[in-house]
Amino acid sequence: MTANPIRTRFAPSPTGAQHVGNARTYLVSWLLARSRGGEIRLRIEDIDSPRIKPGAMEQALADLRWLGLDWDGEPVVQTHRLPLYEAALDELKRQELVYPCTCTRSDIAAAASAPHAEHEGPVYPGTCANRSAADAGQLVVPFAWRFRVSTSPNFEDEFAGPQRIDLKQLGGDFVVWKNTGTPAYQLAVVVDDAEMKISHVVRGDDLLPSTPRQILLDRALDLPVPTFAHLPLVVGEDGRRLAKRHGDTRLSALRDGGMKPEALVGLLAWSCGWLENVRPITPRELLPRFDLATIPRTPFVLTAAQLRQIGYP
Ligand code: GLU
Ligand code: ZN
Repeated sequence: MTANPIRTRFAPSPTGAQHVGNARTYLVSWLLARSRGGEIRLRIEDIDSPRIKPGAMEQALADLRWLGLDWDGEPVVQTHRLPLYEAALDELKRQELVYPCTCTRSDIAAAASAPHAEHEGPVYPGTCANRSAADAGQLVVPFAWRFRVSTSPNFEDEFAGPQRIDLKQLGGDFVVWKNTGTPAYQLAVVVDDAEMKISHVVRGDDLLPSTPRQILLDRALDLPVPTFAHLPLVVGEDGRRLAKRHGDTRLSALRDGGMKPEALVGLLAWSCGWLENVRPITPRELLPRFDLATIPRTPFVLTAAQLRQIGYP
């Protein structure tokens, strides 16, 4: 018996593109919670995306319902919770853990010498780090708030194992509030996971580099650090992230094309090692079979033949 009930979450970004990869993560989040008698909450991450599409939130909800995944309570919508994030930023300012940064993307690229990891951008060279929070009052150009990275916390991922990610090599001081006046993903997610009492964060391993940043924010804000399980992504036959060239694997397209959700769930369950063969099954029927440990540590390669086998339109 675990003393504290487990609570996970779905955190779709309503960009209109929930696809097979998202479905796999959602299925695991749901099974982890439900197999232990826990709860799962739904949060719409509509604050940090430049590409929010109208109707995309409804579509994300419809995708989850189609898959047979339910959630507890009302959906939490980030754009309705600005004061929570503002309070967290104020606390970081009070502790002088953030400073106003006026650098543009090209300033940073020009000042940073070292080559940088793909997707991560150059390491922030610390141009504005000598400012204090109060200096923001004098600035006449738009500015972001950057968090001072002093250490890189190691952590134990429930799925991916021990992680040592060096934040100084990976972007350095990071933005918690954008120069457009809105909170950045890192801050919003930390505030939300704590406020929603999320005990376990299940997400794609493309977000592993975000986790030490989020742990730093948890510590600074005196918030509990959740348990993390980062899962390998779903990729196409060329080993690259699912994209248009792999066919339309958006859940909405599969749904509209008449695919049975049980067929997709069966393929995902097989990919996780819970079924010997691909066959239709519901999330509820998977409860006794669920095991995090059987999920392969490598990306799931989704082939065109597999998609056809489950009724790809
Ligand atoms: N909204 C993010 C996504 O859809 C997930 C963020 C998270 O799980 O922390 O990729
Ligand atoms: Zn700067």
